[in-house]
Order: sequence, then C-alpha cells, then structure tokens
Amino acid sequence: MAAEANQVWDVIVVGAGNAAMCAALSAAEQGAKVVVLEKATLEDRGGNSTFTAGGFRFCHDGVEDLRTDILDDMTDGEYSSIGNLPMLTHEKFLEDLMRVTDNLADEDLANILIGRSRDTMRWMRKHKIRFIPMFGRQSYKIDGKHHFYGGVNIEAVGGGWGLVDMLMQAADRMGITVRYETALRDLIEDQIGRVIGVRAKGPDGYEDIMGKTVVLACGGFQSNPEMRVRYLGAGWELCRVRGTQHNTGDGINAALKIGARPFGGWSSCHAVQWDISAPPYGDRVILDNFQKHSYPIGIVVNLEGNRFVDEGADYRNHTYAKYGREVMKQPQRAAVQIFDAKTIDMVRDEYRIREVTKATSDTIEGLAEALDIDVEGLTKTIAEFNAACQPGEYNPSILDGVSTKGIKPPKSNWALPIDKGPYTGFVVTCGITFTFGGLKINTDGQVLDLVEKPIPGLYAAGELVGGLFYQNYPGGTGLLNGAVFGRLSGGNAGKAATSS
Ligand SMILES: Cc1cc2nc3c(=O)[nH]c(=O)nc-3n(C[C@H](O)[C@H](O)[C@H](O)COP(=O)(O)OP(=O)(O)OC[C@H]3O[C@@H](n4cnc5c(N)ncnc54)[C@H](O)[C@@H]3O)c2cc1C
Repeated sequence: MAAEANQVWDVIVVGAGNAAMCAALSAAEQGAKVVVLEKATLEDRGGNSTFTAGGFRFCHDGVEDLRTDILDDMTDGEYSSIGNLPMLTHEKFLEDLMRVTDNLADEDLANILIGRSRDTMRWMRKHKIRFIPMFGRQSYKIDGKHHFYGGVNIEAVGGGWGLVDMLMQAADRMGITVRYETALRDLIEDQIGRVIGVRAKGPDGYEDIMGKTVVLACGGFQSNPEMRVRYLGAGWELCRVRGTQHNTGDGINAALKIGARPFGGWSSCHAVQWDISAPPYGDRVILDNFQKHSYPIGIVVNLEGNRFVDEGADYRNHTYAKYGREVMKQPQRAAVQIFDAKTIDMVRDEYRIREVTKATSDTIEGLAEALDIDVEGLTKTIAEFNAACQPGEYNPSILDGVSTKGIKPPKSNWALPIDKGPYTGFVVTCGITFTFGGLKINTDGQVLDLVEKPIPGLYAAGELVGGLFYQNYPGGTGLLNGAVFGRLSGGNAGKAATSS
C-alpha cells in the first residue's frame, strides 16, 4: 500500500456489495478515481448481495418489452416456454410498496426507486450484467407454460454469486481499485465539517484513507446482536442471520457519530421463515435455500398446533418478509409448515435440499408426534381449518380468492383442506435478512444531518439508507434499491469530486 500512502482518491466507496459496486461504477463513469473498501476477504466478498437469488423488481411492459434490452440474450426456447409474464407499471409498483409499508415509505425516495428502475436495469445490462426470467421460483407451470406472478420475475444469471462476479468484472474494466479486509471505523472531517476520508482497519492495523467524497454502502445492522436488541427488541439476539456476518451497522454508526440523521423503520426489519437447523449466519453454498417460502399453498402452525398468520393474505412476495417476525413471537421461536399430498409436489426447490428439517407421516397425529407439536392442538386446528375451506377455482398463480370462512386467522387465498396423506411438516424459525432503519439521504444521495442539511462530501446507498421500508417489503426491491441509489449517489459523488 506504500504507493497509496499520500493518495487522495476522488471517491471512496465503503462496502463491496451490489449498492457499493453500482456506486463505484457510476462514479468511475464520471472520470473519478475510485477505491472500494471491503471489510471481508476476497473469498467472503459480496455482502448480502451474494446470498440473494439475484431477483430484481422493476417496471416493464412484459416479456416482449424485456426482450429488447434486458433479456436480449434469452433463447427462443426460453421465450416460447413463457405463458405469461405480466407487466409492472410505476403505479402498481408504488401501490404495492405503499400498501405493504402502511403508506410510510418516503414518497420522494419511492418515486426515484421506481421511476429510475427500468433505466437502471438497462444501465446494468450495459455493464454486462446478464438477466433471465425466474423460471424456478416465480412461476407456476400451467399447461406446460410458465405463468409468472408477484412482480419480481427477473434474476441475474448465476443468482447473487453471478451478480457479484459480473459487477466485479465490470469494476475491473472501469479501472476501480478494490481493497479487501479493510473496514471503515470512522469518518474523517475537516474543520468545516466536510468528509475528507475514512479511518479504516486493515490487515496491518489502522490507516487513514483520504478522498474528496465518500459513499457509504456497507449494509444494515442485522449482524450486530446488540443493535438488534436495542432497536428491534428483546429476544432478537436469538434469531438467525440469513446473509453476511459483516453488516454490523458500522457505516450507520460512523455517520451518526458525525451528526447524520437517523431515518426509516428502525424498530422493524426484513425477516423470513428459515429452516430451524440453519447455522447462525448465511452459508455460502446453501445460500437462500434455508428459506421456506411455499407456505401460501400450505398452513403454518406453532408448536401448540395453532395457526397464527393468514398464509394466503397476498402473494408470497408481499408477505414473506414480515412473517419471520411472527414466527419470532411463537413458543421456542419455532413453527411448522404443513402440506398434504395435493400440494407437496408444488413446493419450491428449497424444500428439496438435503439440509432440511422435516418429517412425513400418513396421519396428522403421527406428524404432530414426529415434530413435537401438541397432538390435540394440531388435530383440532386442522379439523377446523378443513371445515372452514370454501369451494372455488384453485389457481396458485393468481390471487384466486379460494378462502376459509369463520376461522381466525383466515386463509384468504389458496385454501385447500389438509386431508390427503401423507402429510409433510417443515420446521422453521426466524431468519433476519436486513434492517430497515438507517441514514437519511436527499434526492441527490447526500447524507443529511440532524437538521436535514447535506453533510458535505458524504453520500450513501443500499441497506444502510432508511425511509423506503417499514414493517414489510415487496420482494426483489433490495437489489433494485442498491442499484438505483448506488448509481445515483456514486454518480453524484463522482461528479462532485471531479469538478472540485
Ligand atoms: C438470503 C438472502 C436472499 C435475498 N434475496 C434477495 C433477492 O433475490 N432480491 C433482492 O432484491 N434482495 C434480496 N435480498 C436482500 C438483498 O441482499 C439486500 O437488500 C442487498 O443485497 C443489500 O445490498 P447492499 O449493497 O446494501 O449490502 P451488501 O450486499 O450486504 O453489501 C454490504 C457490504 O459492506 C461490507 N461492509 C460491512 N461493514 C463494512 C465496513 N465497516 N467497512 C467496509 N465494508 C463493510 C460487507 O462486507 C458487504 O460486502 C436477500 C438477502 C438475503 C440475505
């Protein structure tokens, strides 16, 4: 590092996940000299972005439209296997975001996110990020054709790993320097309060790295048990973390320390139903396959045998991120998803991995005994559930309205009786994905201080920005958030640095 000793970079980007790398690419497009500082080793790089399916939610007019510039290398065979891939309009995306966040999402941020979504995907494609339809996870096959649902239908080729690899290759092409095992500790300010660098800890100890602008993109605080308990509440030290262990709130804390404004849903988070035997942090081989997301076509009970959520309240993309928190409230932070012979073949691939906690039995009583569920409780719940199921035309690819009547909680769609053995139960707990509280930015991506004035030289993007998500989250928005605001913040940081 001796050659860099007195170097002043144009832009220092903190983190090397999707948001950070989009920020770095965008800054480099402005002609800026960019360094990316990453806390993890090269082998462990990519943050939460690596653990994803690579799924993106963005506005488009359907498959014909996508073929022009996002899915431009899709084969004719893939194209002809698609029965329906519905368009997503700005209005629908905004309506979904507002509905799931109880109308709390910041409208300025939301309109930037959605308004720039299509163009940002096109921009990523220009940086050679490749995309394909999410055939495996976001479609049901009807008459041999894929029918997509739920608004997040396109993924990066190779999932999260593929996305991070392609972003790193793009960074290489743009001449961006990436330094691994170099963790932000503090932001350095000058006399007038301008951010002029970062104090970092690397393999050789502490070091001051100077830059004209800094972009923070180093994730939320989900991997910091103390912060989880402080902001999410008692008991949250006990949840599993689905992704990287490195997102411990460092960027948020460094910015708060120099007077940045906290913003967004600090007391809530994205958390899902996650295999009870999963390790404490994400596994870079199993990735997101510990999640269990087919509950809309089954039922979910706690160990007393009681249901506690409306499994069919909406598409899974609009409920999965809040149901982990409901599992957290159950005895032993555990729940069991139950499917019968009618639905078990329709569950997603993640249910078929070797590392799964499950049991199968020809009877409900046998299943309860095998999984330590209260036998009487479960048989009563299932009998009441079955009696409450109303007739209708079952269709898992639309909100079919096939529901229960007279029970609490109801099941509002896809309510089929659990009556055809064998019965299979999958045991889950709560896995936290990322936190919603973070820093406040303006529409240029600048971090704001406590009286909402921009902190000179400081920008932010990705998970550590607050204001978009409260209580819940529409699937596929995390990566889009990082891409749109990474591009915006990095571009503005690059512009500011190269014009000063
Ligand atoms: C299992 C799983 C599946 C998911 N699936 C999807 C999906 O399909 N679609 C979707 O949109 N979202 C998905 N998400 C959410 C998505 O991962 C995040 O919203 C998104 O990746 C956040 O991007 P980011 O760049 O802000 O953070 P990250 O990708 O986490 O990057 C942050 C980086 O900062 C580094 N860092 C942390 N502290 C420091 C420090 N002090 N100094 C330097 N570097 C530091 C970390 O090591 C990390 O590399 C999923 C998340 C998980 C865990």
